[in-house]
Amino acid sequence: MLAIKDLSFRYSSRGPAVLNGIDLELPDGQIGIVLGKNGSGKTTLFKNILGICRPDSGCISFDGEDLLRMHRRERARIVAYVPQSIHFGALSVFDTVLMGRVSFFGYKAGREDEEAVRQILHDMQLEEFAARNVEQLSGGERQKIAIARALAQEPRLLVFDEPTGNLDIANEQLILSEARRLAREKNICILTSLHDMNQALELGDRFFFMRDGKIRCSGGPEVFSEELIKDIFDAEVRVTEIEGTKYVLNGGRQE
Ligand code: ADP
Repeated sequence: MLAIKDLSFRYSSRGPAVLNGIDLELPDGQIGIVLGKNGSGKTTLFKNILGICRPDSGCISFDGEDLLRMHRRERARIVAYVPQSIHFGALSVFDTVLMGRVSFFGYKAGREDEEAVRQILHDMQLEEFAARNVEQLSGGERQKIAIARALAQEPRLLVFDEPTGNLDIANEQLILSEARRLAREKNICILTSLHDMNQALELGDRFFFMRDGKIRCSGGPEVFSEELIKDIFDAEVRVTEIEGTKYVLNGGRQE
């Protein structure tokens, strides 16, 4: 389980607190979705979890192990990151995914590393791409390679920053179903941010609504309400339920 307690962070000592007393818990195999306006602190929260930024105070642990005290390589065995835009360099798909195992092999990949990559490419139906140059793939395909590379790390927590940001609808569906499969089959925790609330409702188990560096509300799909979305996004929406599933529709109620 990912557990964040009372996390605060500022980019400069005299600047404002960008994260302010964040508490978050995400059990294994669950997908957590962080929602909030641009600038609310979602990416900064991810950077703190990934060790790119160091919090001023608070704790981040995974299954009781303190992520903040870990060496980079140790942390890489627990947390992997799938960035929004990916610049891989001109490597083959196989070698790109193999790079995900650097924390295992250090300088030279062994037979078991290559075997692990082969298995991941097989599981993700990417075998036919193995010898292709990643730079010649489409955005959706590259996103899949980025996931494969993160998986090669054998992480227990996968952090995705806006995974569907630049994708068309077919690739969006592909990435979301892949995320769901990973959480369920491999019992991996996934923490991600999404702008589309219906996509979030479709994918997520737990939701964390951020505003001004704080989590204002968290919980399951039941927490989605017109009042909450107004409070978080200053947006008028309608929240409706069809056959037990919630949907968020643009535009407020007509009086
Ligand atoms: P979100 O991901 O929700 O859009 P961010 O975490 O990117 O939000 O940004 C939160 C706040 O931190 C914003 O006010 C942003 O301007 C500020 N911020 C982000 N990155 C930096 C940085 N490198 N230096 C200073 N301020 C930053």
